[in-house]
Amino acid sequence: MSNNNHDELANQFHSDMLNIYKEAKKINYTPTAFLQMLTKQNGLIVAKKLINSNQPSTGFSVLWDKKRLDLTVEALVLKVEYSTLFSKEERQTAKERLMQYGYKNVRMNEDEELITAGKIKLPKLVFSSRAREYNFYSEEKKDSIVYEYLFNSMSHRGLDENVLMIPVEVRTGHESMNILHFIGLRDIHKGIFKDYSIEQAIKRLEHQEQDFSIVTQSLYRLNKEINGTLNDILNSDIDSEKAEDDSYYKDGAVNFYYGKRYERNPENRKKAIEIHGLNCFACGFNFEEIYGERGKGFIEVHHVSLLSTLVEETIINPEKDLVPVCSNCHRMIHRKKDNVLTIDELKEILNNKRNKLPSF
Ligand SMILES: [Zn+2]
Ligand SMILES: [Zn+2]
Repeated sequence: MSNNNHDELANQFHSDMLNIYKEAKKINYTPTAFLQMLTKQNGLIVAKKLINSNQPSTGFSVLWDKKRLDLTVEALVLKVEYSTLFSKEERQTAKERLMQYGYKNVRMNEDEELITAGKIKLPKLVFSSRAREYNFYSEEKKDSIVYEYLFNSMSHRGLDENVLMIPVEVRTGHESMNILHFIGLRDIHKGIFKDYSIEQAIKRLEHQEQDFSIVTQSLYRLNKEINGTLNDILNSDIDSEKAEDDSYYKDGAVNFYYGKRYERNPENRKKAIEIHGLNCFACGFNFEEIYGERGKGFIEVHHVSLLSTLVEETIINPEKDLVPVCSNCHRMIHRKKDNVLTIDELKEILNNKRNKLPSF
C-alpha cells in the first residue's frame, strides 16, 4: 500500500474515531477524555494505545454496560476495511477483548474463533473431595444446577430452593455449593456463560487446556433435552391444529370432538356475536379497543359442546353452544387436543396467573 493510500485510510479511521464520540453522546455517554486524546493525536495512534493497554478502557466498560460494544474502538479496529492499519497481534487483542465480554458480532472465520476461544482461559476448576451431596442427587438436578449457576448466576441458596426444592426455612445453599465444589466450580465461575448459548459454552469448554469434561457432559445432556422437548412441543402443537379440522377424526379414533366447522360457519358466528357481544369470554379482550378500526367487529367463536357424530348436522344453539373468545384464548383452549379446556378452566388459569403478578 502506498503512503498516500495509507494516509487516506488513516484519515478515514480518524473520522470514524470521532464518530464514536458522537454516537456515544446519543446514548448519554460523553467520553470527554477520549475526545481530548483525539484532538491531540491521530485516531490511529489513539486506537493503538487503547488496544495495547493491558486493561480495557473506562469507555469500553461503559459501553459494555450499555450493551453497545459495537461502539468500542476495538470493534472499529476489527472492521475489514481497516485491517491493513493494524498488526495481526493488535487485531487479535481487540477480538479477544470483545469476545471476553460476550460481544458476538466479531467477524472471524471458524478457525480463528476456536483459537481465540481456547486462548481465553476459563478460571481453573478447584475440586473438593466431599462427594456426599454429589452422590445423593440425580443427574438431572445436577445438570440444572450447573446450568443455572454458569448461565444465570443463580446463588447457592437460590439453587437449593429452586432446583433442589429445599424449603426456604431450611435451605442454606450448602447442598448446591457442595455439588458445585465437588466438580470444581467455584464463585469465580458463577455467570461465566451469561449471554452464551449452550453450544457456544461447549465450544469454549472443549478448547481449554484443563479438562472440563464433567461440565461439558452436563451441557451436552441439557442441550439434547432442550432440543428434544422443543421438538415434542412443536409436533404436538401442529397435531392439535390439525385436530381442529373435522377430517382429522375420520378414522373414528375418538368418540367426541369439537365442532370447528360450526365455529367457522358465518351464520353461527353472527348469531353468537349478536347474543354475546365482541368481548372475549375468558379474558375480556376487545379487538377494536386495541387494534382500532382494523379490529372492529372481530372476535373468534368457540363451540363449547362436545359432538358425538361427524356425519349428522347438529342444530346449534348459538346462545348455549357458542362463545366469543379472542384468538389467544381460543388457541390456548384447543392447544391440547385431548384436553380441550372449558371457558371456566381457562379463566381459572388466567386468574391464578394474575394473582401472582404484583398489584398496581
Ligand atoms: Zn381472551
Ligand atoms: Zn374453539
